[in-house]
Amino acid sequence: MPAAYTAGPVAALRRIAFLLERAREDTYKVKAYRGAAATILPLPDDEVARMVDEGTLTDLPGVGKSSGRVIAEAVRGETPRRLAELETEHAGPLTEDEHGAHDLHAALRGDCHSHSDWSDGGSPIEEMAITAMELGHEYLVLTDHSPRLKVARGLSAERLARQLDVVDAVNEHLGGSFTLLKGIEVDILDDGGLDQTEEMLDRLDVRVASVHSKLRMDRDAMTRRMVAATRNRHMNVLGHCTGRLVTGGRGTRPPSQFDARAVFESCAEHDVAVEINSRPERRDPPTELLELARDIGCVFSIDSDAHAPGQLDFLWYGAERAAAAGIEPDRIVNTWPKERLLAWATK
Ligand SMILES: [Zn+2]
Ligand SMILES: [Zn+2]
Repeated sequence: MPAAYTAGPVAALRRIAFLLERAREDTYKVKAYRGAAATILPLPDDEVARMVDEGTLTDLPGVGKSSGRVIAEAVRGETPRRLAELETEHAGPLTEDEHGAHDLHAALRGDCHSHSDWSDGGSPIEEMAITAMELGHEYLVLTDHSPRLKVARGLSAERLARQLDVVDAVNEHLGGSFTLLKGIEVDILDDGGLDQTEEMLDRLDVRVASVHSKLRMDRDAMTRRMVAATRNRHMNVLGHCTGRLVTGGRGTRPPSQFDARAVFESCAEHDVAVEINSRPERRDPPTELLELARDIGCVFSIDSDAHAPGQLDFLWYGAERAAAAGIEPDRIVNTWPKERLLAWATK
Protein backbone atom coordinates (compact mmCIF):
# COMPACT_ATOMS: atom_id res chain seq x y z
CA MET A 1 0.00 0.00 0.00
CA PRO A 2 1.42 3.43 -0.89
CA ALA A 3 1.42 6.02 1.89
CA ALA A 4 -1.85 7.92 2.24
CA TYR A 5 -1.99 11.32 0.56
CA THR A 6 -3.05 13.79 3.24
CA ALA A 7 -2.46 17.23 1.72
CA GLY A 8 -5.95 17.42 0.23
CA PRO A 9 -7.25 18.34 -3.21
CA VAL A 10 -6.46 22.07 -3.21
CA ALA A 11 -2.79 21.45 -2.42
CA ALA A 12 -2.66 18.72 -5.09
CA LEU A 13 -4.13 21.01 -7.77
CA ARG A 14 -1.87 23.92 -6.82
CA ARG A 15 1.20 21.72 -6.86
CA ILE A 16 0.31 20.32 -10.28
CA ALA A 17 -0.19 23.85 -11.63
CA PHE A 18 3.15 24.91 -10.17
CA LEU A 19 5.05 21.96 -11.64
CA LEU A 20 3.49 22.45 -15.09
CA GLU A 21 4.17 26.15 -15.02
CA ARG A 22 7.83 25.93 -14.02
CA ALA A 23 8.27 23.40 -16.83
CA ARG A 24 6.75 25.99 -19.22
CA GLU A 25 3.80 23.80 -20.17
CA ASP A 26 0.70 25.16 -21.82
CA THR A 27 -0.73 28.09 -19.83
CA TYR A 28 -4.25 26.86 -20.55
CA LYS A 29 -3.63 23.61 -18.65
CA VAL A 30 -1.99 25.44 -15.77
CA LYS A 31 -4.97 27.78 -15.48
CA ALA A 32 -7.38 24.86 -15.54
CA TYR A 33 -5.80 23.25 -12.47
CA ARG A 34 -5.49 26.55 -10.66
CA GLY A 35 -9.09 27.43 -11.53
CA ALA A 36 -10.32 24.12 -10.14
CA ALA A 37 -8.38 24.76 -6.91
CA ALA A 38 -10.04 28.17 -6.60
CA THR A 39 -13.47 26.61 -7.18
CA ILE A 40 -13.23 24.01 -4.43
CA LEU A 41 -11.24 26.10 -1.94
CA PRO A 42 -14.35 27.69 -0.34
CA LEU A 43 -16.38 24.44 -0.27
CA PRO A 44 -16.62 22.40 2.95
CA ASP A 45 -14.66 19.11 2.85
CA ASP A 46 -17.78 16.96 3.31
CA GLU A 47 -19.49 18.62 0.38
CA VAL A 48 -16.50 17.93 -1.87
CA ALA A 49 -16.43 14.32 -0.59
CA ARG A 50 -20.14 13.94 -1.33
CA MET A 51 -19.63 15.20 -4.88
CA VAL A 52 -16.78 12.73 -5.33
CA ASP A 53 -19.11 9.90 -4.22
CA GLU A 54 -21.89 11.05 -6.50
CA GLY A 55 -19.54 11.69 -9.40
CA THR A 56 -20.83 15.26 -9.80
CA LEU A 57 -17.57 17.21 -9.40
CA THR A 58 -17.49 18.20 -13.05
CA ASP A 59 -20.80 20.03 -12.58
CA LEU A 60 -18.78 22.67 -10.74
CA PRO A 61 -17.62 25.58 -12.88
CA GLY A 62 -13.92 25.22 -13.63
CA VAL A 63 -13.67 21.53 -12.74
CA GLY A 64 -13.00 19.35 -15.77
CA LYS A 65 -12.22 15.69 -16.26
CA SER A 66 -8.52 15.88 -15.38
CA SER A 67 -8.90 18.18 -12.39
CA GLY A 68 -11.95 16.17 -11.24
CA ARG A 69 -9.86 13.00 -11.22
CA VAL A 70 -7.14 14.71 -9.17
CA ILE A 71 -9.72 15.93 -6.65
CA ALA A 72 -11.33 12.51 -6.34
CA GLU A 73 -8.01 10.74 -5.80
CA ALA A 74 -6.86 13.29 -3.23
CA VAL A 75 -10.17 13.11 -1.34
CA ARG A 76 -9.83 9.31 -1.20
CA GLY A 77 -6.36 9.76 0.32
CA GLU A 78 -4.51 8.53 -2.76
CA THR A 79 -1.65 10.44 -4.35
CA PRO A 80 -3.20 11.76 -7.57
CA ARG A 81 -1.65 9.95 -10.53
CA ARG A 82 -1.03 13.17 -12.46
CA LEU A 83 0.78 14.61 -9.47
CA ALA A 84 2.93 11.50 -9.00
CA GLU A 85 3.91 11.61 -12.69
CA LEU A 86 4.87 15.26 -12.50
CA GLU A 87 6.83 14.82 -9.27
CA THR A 88 8.86 12.18 -11.08
CA GLU A 89 9.32 14.02 -14.37
CA HIS A 90 9.24 17.69 -13.50
CA ALA A 91 10.32 18.30 -9.91
CA GLY A 92 13.96 18.88 -9.00
CA PRO A 93 16.57 21.27 -10.38
CA LEU A 94 15.82 22.96 -13.70
CA THR A 95 19.49 23.05 -14.69
CA GLU A 96 22.60 20.90 -14.70
CA ASP A 97 24.99 21.32 -11.79
CA GLU A 98 27.97 22.84 -13.54
CA HIS A 99 30.39 25.44 -12.13
CA GLY A 100 28.66 25.18 -8.74
CA ALA A 101 25.30 26.31 -10.15
CA HIS A 102 23.27 24.36 -7.61
CA ASP A 103 25.20 25.72 -4.62
CA LEU A 104 24.73 29.21 -5.95
CA HIS A 105 21.02 28.58 -6.38
CA ALA A 106 20.87 27.30 -2.81
CA ALA A 107 22.51 30.51 -1.62
CA LEU A 108 19.73 32.68 -3.05
CA ARG A 109 17.49 33.94 -0.25
CA GLY A 110 14.93 35.82 -2.25
CA ASP A 111 13.89 37.43 -5.48
CA CYS A 112 13.89 41.13 -6.38
CA HIS A 113 11.61 41.15 -9.45
CA SER A 114 8.07 39.76 -9.71
CA HIS A 115 4.63 40.74 -11.02
CA SER A 116 1.07 40.19 -9.86
CA ASP A 117 -2.28 40.60 -11.59
CA TRP A 118 -2.24 44.24 -10.49
CA SER A 119 -0.15 44.82 -13.64
CA ASP A 120 0.58 42.17 -16.28
CA GLY A 121 1.07 39.14 -14.03
CA GLY A 122 -1.43 36.30 -14.05
CA SER A 123 -1.94 35.69 -10.34
CA PRO A 124 -3.00 37.57 -7.22
CA ILE A 125 -0.37 39.00 -4.87
CA GLU A 126 -1.02 36.41 -2.16
CA GLU A 127 -0.58 33.49 -4.57
CA MET A 128 2.82 34.85 -5.61
CA ALA A 129 3.81 35.39 -1.97
CA ILE A 130 2.69 31.94 -0.82
CA THR A 131 4.52 30.24 -3.68
CA ALA A 132 7.70 32.19 -2.90
CA MET A 133 7.35 31.09 0.70
CA GLU A 134 6.89 27.47 -0.37
CA LEU A 135 10.06 27.75 -2.44
CA GLY A 136 11.90 28.64 0.75
CA HIS A 137 12.47 32.30 -0.07
CA GLU A 138 12.99 34.68 2.83
CA TYR A 139 11.59 37.52 0.75
CA LEU A 140 9.99 38.39 -2.53
CA VAL A 141 9.98 41.92 -3.88
CA LEU A 142 6.70 42.69 -5.63
CA THR A 143 7.60 44.89 -8.59
CA ASP A 144 4.57 45.69 -10.71
CA HIS A 145 4.93 48.09 -13.61
CA SER A 146 4.78 51.89 -13.55
CA PRO A 147 2.05 54.11 -15.10
CA ARG A 148 3.53 54.70 -18.53
CA LEU A 149 3.51 51.02 -19.40
CA LYS A 150 -0.20 51.10 -20.20
CA VAL A 151 -0.22 47.75 -22.05
CA ALA A 152 0.86 46.16 -18.78
CA ARG A 153 -1.67 48.12 -16.68
CA GLY A 154 1.13 50.01 -14.95
CA LEU A 155 0.22 51.31 -11.52
CA SER A 156 -0.51 55.01 -10.96
CA ALA A 157 0.75 56.53 -7.71
CA GLU A 158 -2.74 56.02 -6.26
CA ARG A 159 -2.93 52.33 -7.20
CA LEU A 160 0.60 51.74 -5.96
CA ALA A 161 -0.33 53.35 -2.63
CA ARG A 162 -3.29 50.96 -2.39
CA GLN A 163 -1.05 48.02 -3.29
CA LEU A 164 1.29 48.88 -0.42
CA ASP A 165 -1.64 48.51 2.00
CA VAL A 166 -2.36 45.09 0.51
CA VAL A 167 1.30 44.12 0.94
CA ASP A 168 1.09 45.11 4.62
CA ALA A 169 -2.04 42.97 5.01
CA VAL A 170 -0.44 39.97 3.28
CA ASN A 171 2.58 40.24 5.57
CA GLU A 172 0.35 40.33 8.63
CA HIS A 173 -1.27 37.08 7.51
CA LEU A 174 1.91 35.29 6.49
CA GLY A 175 4.09 36.62 9.28
CA GLY A 176 7.01 34.53 10.44
CA SER A 177 10.14 34.10 8.44
CA PHE A 178 8.88 35.34 5.06
CA THR A 179 8.44 38.96 3.99
CA LEU A 180 6.80 40.36 0.90
CA LEU A 181 8.81 43.48 0.14
CA LYS A 182 7.50 46.64 -1.51
CA GLY A 183 8.91 47.37 -4.91
CA ILE A 184 8.35 48.50 -8.44
CA GLU A 185 9.64 47.85 -11.92
CA VAL A 186 9.75 51.45 -12.92
CA ASP A 187 10.12 52.51 -16.54
CA ILE A 188 13.25 54.41 -17.46
CA LEU A 189 11.84 57.36 -19.43
CA ASP A 190 13.45 58.67 -22.62
CA ASP A 191 15.49 61.24 -20.69
CA GLY A 192 16.56 58.77 -17.99
CA GLY A 193 13.94 59.90 -15.48
CA LEU A 194 11.95 57.30 -13.55
CA ASP A 195 8.23 56.88 -14.17
CA GLN A 196 6.86 57.26 -10.63
CA THR A 197 6.58 60.06 -8.08
CA GLU A 198 9.46 60.72 -5.70
CA GLU A 199 7.10 60.25 -2.81
CA MET A 200 6.06 56.76 -3.88
CA LEU A 201 9.60 55.71 -4.81
CA ASP A 202 10.65 56.76 -1.31
CA ARG A 203 8.09 54.45 0.25
CA LEU A 204 9.44 51.33 -1.47
CA ASP A 205 12.02 48.84 -0.28
CA VAL A 206 13.65 47.88 -3.60
CA ARG A 207 13.31 49.46 -7.04
CA VAL A 208 14.06 47.78 -10.33
CA ALA A 209 14.29 50.21 -13.26
CA SER A 210 14.02 49.01 -16.84
CA VAL A 211 13.76 50.27 -20.39
CA HIS A 212 10.51 49.14 -22.02
CA SER A 213 10.02 51.72 -24.75
CA LYS A 214 12.07 53.07 -27.66
CA LEU A 215 14.40 50.10 -27.44
CA ARG A 216 15.82 51.05 -30.84
CA MET A 217 16.96 54.50 -29.73
CA ASP A 218 20.37 55.42 -31.12
CA ARG A 219 23.36 54.23 -29.16
CA ASP A 220 24.47 57.55 -27.66
CA ALA A 221 20.99 58.57 -26.63
CA MET A 222 20.36 55.15 -25.07
CA THR A 223 23.66 55.36 -23.17
CA ARG A 224 22.77 58.83 -21.82
CA ARG A 225 19.30 57.60 -20.88
CA MET A 226 20.57 54.57 -18.96
CA VAL A 227 23.47 56.37 -17.28
CA ALA A 228 21.14 59.14 -16.14
CA ALA A 229 18.83 56.55 -14.59
CA THR A 230 21.66 54.86 -12.67
CA ARG A 231 22.45 58.22 -11.07
CA ASN A 232 18.95 58.46 -9.66
CA ARG A 233 19.19 57.68 -5.95
CA HIS A 234 16.02 55.59 -6.18
CA MET A 235 17.43 53.08 -8.61
CA ASN A 236 18.63 49.79 -7.14
CA VAL A 237 18.54 47.25 -9.96
CA LEU A 238 18.96 47.71 -13.70
CA GLY A 239 16.34 45.31 -15.14
CA HIS A 240 16.96 43.22 -18.32
CA CYS A 241 19.48 45.75 -19.65
CA THR A 242 19.36 45.01 -23.39
CA GLY A 243 15.67 44.17 -23.72
CA ARG A 244 16.49 41.35 -26.10
CA LEU A 245 14.21 38.34 -26.62
CA VAL A 246 15.95 35.17 -27.72
CA THR A 247 13.00 32.79 -28.00
CA GLY A 248 9.36 32.31 -27.09
CA GLY A 249 5.83 33.32 -27.90
CA ARG A 250 6.57 37.02 -28.34
CA GLY A 251 9.18 36.27 -31.01
CA THR A 252 12.74 37.48 -30.91
CA ARG A 253 14.10 40.99 -30.54
CA PRO A 254 17.69 42.17 -30.89
CA PRO A 255 19.46 43.77 -27.92
CA SER A 256 19.26 47.54 -27.72
CA GLN A 257 22.49 49.37 -28.41
CA PHE A 258 24.37 51.33 -25.75
CA ASP A 259 27.87 51.81 -24.41
CA ALA A 260 27.77 48.95 -21.95
CA ARG A 261 31.06 49.91 -20.31
CA ALA A 262 29.78 53.40 -19.52
CA VAL A 263 26.47 52.06 -18.20
CA PHE A 264 28.02 49.35 -16.04
CA GLU A 265 30.70 51.71 -14.69
CA SER A 266 27.92 54.03 -13.63
CA CYS A 267 26.08 51.09 -12.03
CA ALA A 268 29.22 50.20 -10.08
CA GLU A 269 29.77 53.81 -9.04
CA HIS A 270 26.17 54.33 -7.89
CA ASP A 271 25.70 50.89 -6.33
CA VAL A 272 23.10 49.76 -8.83
CA ALA A 273 22.91 46.00 -9.30
CA VAL A 274 22.91 44.63 -12.82
CA GLU A 275 20.03 42.20 -13.11
CA ILE A 276 20.62 38.68 -14.35
CA ASN A 277 17.13 38.14 -15.72
CA SER A 278 16.28 34.45 -15.44
CA ARG A 279 13.44 34.34 -17.95
CA PRO A 280 14.36 31.78 -20.63
CA GLU A 281 13.24 34.10 -23.43
CA ARG A 282 15.38 36.96 -22.14
CA ARG A 283 18.72 35.57 -20.88
CA ASP A 284 19.68 39.16 -20.29
CA PRO A 285 22.43 40.41 -20.18
CA PRO A 286 24.04 38.40 -22.97
CA THR A 287 27.15 36.52 -21.79
CA GLU A 288 29.62 39.05 -23.16
CA LEU A 289 27.94 41.88 -21.27
CA LEU A 290 27.55 39.79 -18.14
CA GLU A 291 31.29 39.19 -18.15
CA LEU A 292 31.97 42.86 -18.78
CA ALA A 293 29.84 43.85 -15.78
CA ARG A 294 31.66 41.21 -13.73
CA ASP A 295 35.05 42.61 -14.71
CA ILE A 296 33.99 46.18 -13.99
CA GLY A 297 33.07 45.15 -10.44
CA CYS A 298 29.29 45.46 -10.51
CA VAL A 299 27.00 43.72 -8.08
CA PHE A 300 24.19 41.59 -9.49
CA SER A 301 20.65 40.55 -8.72
CA ILE A 302 19.45 37.18 -10.01
CA ASP A 303 15.77 37.80 -10.67
CA SER A 304 12.94 35.59 -11.85
CA ASP A 305 10.85 38.43 -13.33
CA ALA A 306 8.00 36.00 -12.65
CA HIS A 307 4.60 36.85 -14.09
CA ALA A 308 3.08 33.66 -12.64
CA PRO A 309 3.81 31.54 -9.54
CA GLY A 310 5.62 28.66 -11.29
CA GLN A 311 7.96 31.15 -12.92
CA LEU A 312 9.33 32.09 -9.50
CA ASP A 313 11.38 28.93 -9.87
CA PHE A 314 13.19 30.30 -12.94
CA LEU A 315 15.98 31.49 -10.59
CA TRP A 316 17.70 28.21 -11.50
CA TYR A 317 18.44 29.64 -14.95
CA GLY A 318 19.93 32.88 -13.64
CA ALA A 319 22.01 30.99 -11.09
CA GLU A 320 23.34 28.76 -13.86
CA ARG A 321 24.48 31.77 -15.88
CA ALA A 322 26.02 33.58 -12.89
CA ALA A 323 27.91 30.44 -11.90
CA ALA A 324 29.16 29.93 -15.45
CA ALA A 325 30.44 33.53 -15.44
CA GLY A 326 32.24 32.86 -12.14
CA ILE A 327 30.43 35.55 -10.19
CA GLU A 328 30.99 35.10 -6.45
CA PRO A 329 27.84 34.71 -4.34
CA ASP A 330 28.64 37.74 -2.20
CA ARG A 331 28.37 39.98 -5.26
CA ILE A 332 24.79 38.83 -5.77
CA VAL A 333 22.47 40.97 -3.68
CA ASN A 334 19.81 38.32 -3.27
CA THR A 335 22.22 35.99 -1.49
CA TRP A 336 22.27 38.63 1.25
CA PRO A 337 20.07 38.52 4.34
CA LYS A 338 17.02 40.74 4.05
CA GLU A 339 18.42 43.38 6.43
CA ARG A 340 21.56 43.79 4.36
CA LEU A 341 19.54 44.01 1.16
CA LEU A 342 17.28 46.68 2.64
CA ALA A 343 20.22 48.71 3.96
CA TRP A 344 21.90 48.53 0.56
CA ALA A 345 18.71 49.60 -1.23
CA THR A 346 18.40 52.73 0.91
CA LYS A 347 20.62 55.46 -0.50
ZN1 LIG B 1 10.51 44.51 -17.64
ZN1 LIG C 1 9.31 42.56 -15.04
